Amino acid sequence: MKSYVNEFIYGRDLLKKDVIATVIFCALSIIFRANITLQGIFAAVTLILFAAGVYIVVKYCRCPHCRKVIFLGVLAVTACPRCKRNLVSGRKVKKSR
Ligand SMILES: [Zn+2]
Repeated sequence: MKSYVNEFIYGRDLLKKDVIATVIFCALSIIFRANITLQGIFAAVTLILFAAGVYIVVKYCRCPHCRKVIFLGVLAVTACPRCKRNLVSGRKVKKSR
């Protein structure tokens, strides 16, 4: 089993997979739009994956220090926008830049 530095890293990894799956199923529902049954199935899976993504963000994508939920730029962000601590190391980020 793969181990993670913290919950945030775990959640972010999970979210990446979820986003990829959402995009795939969304594309599939467009490709199969001629077939109502298949399109319905793919659209339903897309919605479930989207909901799962929101759940993952709310549950895991929080700052480990101040517990702020990080929605925007969660896949790219390295420091918490509120307490300015690095999400992995917990070190304070310098003000410059
Ligand atoms: Zn924070």
